[in-house]
Amino acid sequence: MNQTVENSVGLYIHVPFCSSKCQYCDFYSVTDRGRMDEYAAAVTDELTTLRRAGAYADGLRGREISTVYFGGGTPSLLGADRLSALLRAVKDCFSVLPGAEVTVECNPSSSLSGGFFETLAAAGVNRVSLGMQSAVDAERKRLGRKATAADVSAAVNACRSAGIENISLDVMLGVPGQTEQSLRQTLDHAVTLGAKHISAYMLSIEEGTFFAKKRETLNLPEEDAVCDWYLAMCEHLKNRGYRHYEISNFCLPGYEARHNTAYWYDGEYLGIGPAAHSFLNGRRFYFPRDLDGFIQGGFPVEDGPGGGWEETVMLALRLDTGVSLRETEERFGVVPFPSFADKLEPYRSGGLLAFDGDRIILTEKGFLVSNTVIGEIIAAMTDNR
Ligand code: SF4
Repeated sequence: MNQTVENSVGLYIHVPFCSSKCQYCDFYSVTDRGRMDEYAAAVTDELTTLRRAGAYADGLRGREISTVYFGGGTPSLLGADRLSALLRAVKDCFSVLPGAEVTVECNPSSSLSGGFFETLAAAGVNRVSLGMQSAVDAERKRLGRKATAADVSAAVNACRSAGIENISLDVMLGVPGQTEQSLRQTLDHAVTLGAKHISAYMLSIEEGTFFAKKRETLNLPEEDAVCDWYLAMCEHLKNRGYRHYEISNFCLPGYEARHNTAYWYDGEYLGIGPAAHSFLNGRRFYFPRDLDGFIQGGFPVEDGPGGGWEETVMLALRLDTGVSLRETEERFGVVPFPSFADKLEPYRSGGLLAFDGDRIILTEKGFLVSNTVIGEIIAAMTDNR
């Protein structure tokens, strides 16, 4: 883990507003946009309180902010002026490292015109993550997304014209009605638009969503086919210069998402807003999924200790650099070798992981069954303690 990640903290601000609810979405958001001013004021209060008293986030004292991430929900719905004011409040309250990565998630729509990105760039935003999901309008519509592929292109061009080059696009696999060819069309659209980073997630049907209620009628692609598409996608993007650096994330050289990468290196972060999670000073805590409660000054809920060896190994194995047994042993006293290697041999010979005598790295086939393989690696290490 590098020094910057160890000593600094990532700041996440959840923006719990969406213009409408996408049919598959389980993220916390509401469609009552009338409360955005109240909410922005509550976040500013929260930041100011943290500066004054330390409060529940005492672990922040003396530490610098290395990344700021506005996620949602739909942060762009807040508008450029509110987002800029929040970023000013962050800078007033904390020491933000020079060159810190500052990301705003945006939903492509007409509200991103009229100087939106210029205002963000002037405030210090240097990375934008756009919810594309699919470049095929019929697929986007089935997901409940209103914007078209042309809106995505317009948003990317507007963002770049404003001087923000670091653009990430979300892609979804397993969308109702998707085919391998239509996925390829989506990937080519992202590449042609010059995305520096692509996050590609498989659709998962969460209980309580509209999709869960009508699962049988969705015309979902076969699971085996989606797995094949995932492997084809990895090849497709690698051939176009993208590094597959995490299970679901690809980037051009030097454009890893620094905020998320810190999570996978077990770095600490503070999350502000309903449904935002934190890991600070070895403690985990989160704000409940309750906009009213947050606006009224509710406190976060304790979620136990974090940063144990199992968690660290599990997170590291999501990355293409995998986990170092030597570092794990030095840091946590886990003695993983040599019997450990025997237990994992079936996974190595089955092409699910690679082992060079120190690092265990999941292959792309291994990423597809990461829960199982990571569980087996941790079990083997536990047996060997
Ligand atoms: S825009 Fe994003 S957060 Fe909002 S409903 Fe759609 S998927 Fe969920």
